[in-house]
Amino acid sequence: METNNSFKVPSGILGRVTGPIVMIGFGSIGRGTLPLLERHIDFDRKRFVVIDPDDTHRKLLDDRGIQYIKAHVTAENYRELLTPLLTNGEGQGFCVNLSVDVSSLDVMKLCREKNCLYVDTVVEPWLGFYFDDKLDTGDRSNYALREAVLHERRNNPGGATALSCCGANPGMVSWFVKQALVNLATDMKLEFTQPKTREDWAKLMQKAGVKGIHIAERDTQRSKNPKPMGTFINTWSVEGFVSECMQPAVLCWGSHEKWLPKNAVKHTKGCQAAIYLMQPGANTRLHSWCPTPGPQYALLVTHNEAISISDYFTVGAGDAPEYRPTCHYAYRPSNDALLSVDEMFGSAGKVQEKFHILDEKEIVDGSDELGVLLYGHAKNAYWFGSQLTIEEARALAPYQNATGMQVTSAVLAGMVWALENPAKGIVESDEMDYTRCLELQLPYLGPVKGYYTDWNPLKNRGTLFPEDLDETDPWQFRNILYRT
Ligand code: NAD
Repeated sequence: METNNSFKVPSGILGRVTGPIVMIGFGSIGRGTLPLLERHIDFDRKRFVVIDPDDTHRKLLDDRGIQYIKAHVTAENYRELLTPLLTNGEGQGFCVNLSVDVSSLDVMKLCREKNCLYVDTVVEPWLGFYFDDKLDTGDRSNYALREAVLHERRNNPGGATALSCCGANPGMVSWFVKQALVNLATDMKLEFTQPKTREDWAKLMQKAGVKGIHIAERDTQRSKNPKPMGTFINTWSVEGFVSECMQPAVLCWGSHEKWLPKNAVKHTKGCQAAIYLMQPGANTRLHSWCPTPGPQYALLVTHNEAISISDYFTVGAGDAPEYRPTCHYAYRPSNDALLSVDEMFGSAGKVQEKFHILDEKEIVDGSDELGVLLYGHAKNAYWFGSQLTIEEARALAPYQNATGMQVTSAVLAGMVWALENPAKGIVESDEMDYTRCLELQLPYLGPVKGYYTDWNPLKNRGTLFPEDLDETDPWQFRNILYRT
């Protein structure tokens, strides 16, 4: 499956929310999601409410007759604040959590208690969790946050559908992994039938000989205004990115790996797919690859999907599975974001005083090339993903850049899937029907294509400064991790 569709504005109702819609957070993703919901979801405008403590963009809501509540959702007030909104009138409510600093787990639990549908794009904790130095490093990580959601699912299976982490990444990239694997297995002429269970998917990945997966992203969106000192600039949530930057580098540890970094720590509880390095993710450089730049430096920023994907494609269990792919994020953010990260770590982690998200009007050009690189198999490496440009994003829907559109269209696809599957309990993106989700999302992703490459992390490393590499297997993490 590949598509070149661009600039064709999608239309048509895809689903109906019978109860109220409660959107928490009206930042870059909330604002971008709004026009997609108006275009594709049938809902009762009088029962659509948005909650955000920041009223900068409330005019967008006022103009549409959508109720706005200026409030922080907190651990103390969330039950009292959300319950009457979620249960307002007939039908099944839908909570769309696109905020920072609001616990995904607590809100998800409340929604399910009230038989409301729920979607978020990240497992977010309450304010303060990421920087709580009383917690062990591993206990304030994405791994711990995901494990808490899985624990809740084990304790309360079934019930109203709650989609955990249904954005672009985490989210859409899990659908890309499955499509990429099917494309690869087909091109390799493997004998296989379309997998139906998690175990079958994992076995197909094993059969294809995939050693690892990079969530390989290159954001080339450029602003017309040069970055001033003292401002952290990003193409999506600065708060969200800063908290990821400061968390330890988390990756899932493949069964082919022969060398463990000295500062690696293994988890002893939970699925045990992941390890973390005792260093901040955004200060951890990697060798990776995307179609447009070719080889590139990327940052090993912690992300939920690195864990869920690797866990999903594991054959066996625990810390000694028969097969598990290495999996991690390999993120090359926009130039301004990279400068911002450099400035922040340069000042010993002191975060800049001003935050700014580049909007679609100030971006001159560029794209967000976001895909998955399946590597280490007989055809070397295969990247599959979206190459959405800012021009396409502007033409497709208002209030968002290319990065935002990849996220908001995944939220839309997730919501439609949840409306079609309203009683699936807590669901991760890896477990959703990827063909349906991609069918829903593709019109918003620009060109979606696959590329084979002969690049590997040992290529062109040079001989002037000998490095401690594993020449016997290019695809060892030892060669991917940049070390001095
Ligand atoms: P943003 O920073 O632009 O917006 C976040 C909004 O949350 C802000 O408007 C803020 O005022 C609001 N907020 C803060 N505290 C709140 C509280 N206590 N109650 C209610 N609202 C509160 O961020 P964004 O770019 O819109 O991202 C939103 C979320 O989506 C973040 O958690 C981010 O990490 C996540 N995200 C996920 C993906 C993905 O692909 N999975 C991509 C981008 C963003």
